Amino acid sequence: MAVFEKKLKVGGTRTRKRDIPSGLWLKCNDCGEMIFSKELTSNLKVCPKCEYHFSMTVSERIASLADHGTFREMDADLVSVDTLNFKGVAAYKDRLKAYQRQTGLSDAVVNGLCRLNGHDVSLAVMDFSFLGASMGAVVGERITRTIERATGLRIPVVIVSASGGARMYEGILSLMQMAKTSGALALHAKEGLPYISVLTHPTTAGVMASFASLGDVILAEPKALIGFAGPRVIKETTQQELPEGFQTSEFARDHGLVDAVVHRKQLKTTIGLLLDYFSGRGKRKFKAAG
Ligand SMILES: [Zn+2]
Repeated sequence: MAVFEKKLKVGGTRTRKRDIPSGLWLKCNDCGEMIFSKELTSNLKVCPKCEYHFSMTVSERIASLADHGTFREMDADLVSVDTLNFKGVAAYKDRLKAYQRQTGLSDAVVNGLCRLNGHDVSLAVMDFSFLGASMGAVVGERITRTIERATGLRIPVVIVSASGGARMYEGILSLMQMAKTSGALALHAKEGLPYISVLTHPTTAGVMASFASLGDVILAEPKALIGFAGPRVIKETTQQELPEGFQTSEFARDHGLVDAVVHRKQLKTTIGLLLDYFSGRGKRKFKAAG
C-alpha cells in the first residue's frame, strides 16, 4: 500500500531517515494530521482524527467482512491475456506483470465463498491498487462467476466495488463485461435472490454503469467518489455548472442512487442485518420479540 511507504516528514530537515522506521507514520489525505500506521490499521483504515476512509487491500476488506477463517477463494486460475498486443506507453503484458508483483494479486478482483454473520454468501472484492481496478475480461468473468455461483447455490451476492472503469488495454472485450455481468445479475434477480452492492472510493465509469449500480440494496462508504464520467467531461457535454460535491456518496444517497452511506465500522453489521431480513431470519427474530 503506497500510503504506508511515505516517509515521516516531521521534526524538520534534521530528522534522519534511519532514526524513524519507514511507514511508521503517515499523513491523512483529508485532515492532514499525522497518524500512527498501526493505529490506522487497527481502526479498519479509518482516520481516527477525521473519519476519512483510506483504501483497503483485498485481504483487509475480506477480513473485515467474512466470518473468521471462512473465505475460500474461487476462480484464481483465470489470467488476463493481451489479445490486442497493446503497446502504448507501456506494453499491457508488462504492466500486468508489474502490478501482479506489486500487489501480490493476479488481477483487480478477488472472489469466493464465505460466511458473513452466519450467512453463506458469494463475495467479490475489487482492489483499486491493481491497474485502477479496471474491468477487463478476467475481472468481468470473476464477477460473473461470483453471481452465477450464487444463483446456482441460491445464496446472496455481495460485491465490494472500486474502479476507474473499463480496461482500455482490452478494448471491446472489456466493454462486453458490462453486459455480461448485468445479464448474470438479471438471472440472479429472476430467481428472487438478493444482491448487495457496496461502493467504495472511487467507483466510476463502466463498473458504476453496470453491476455496481444494480444492487437490490446499494451501500456506499462515506465521501467516496461515485459517478460515470469525470466532472470536466460532464461540464463540457451539458454546458452547465455542476453542483458542489455532486459525485460523492452523500450526494448520490440524497438523490436516490445510493440507499445508505455506511461507516466502515458498521458495514459488516449492516450487511448482516440486510441478509437476516432477506433470509427471513430477521422476521422470525422480530416476531419472537413481538
Ligand atoms: Zn484525517
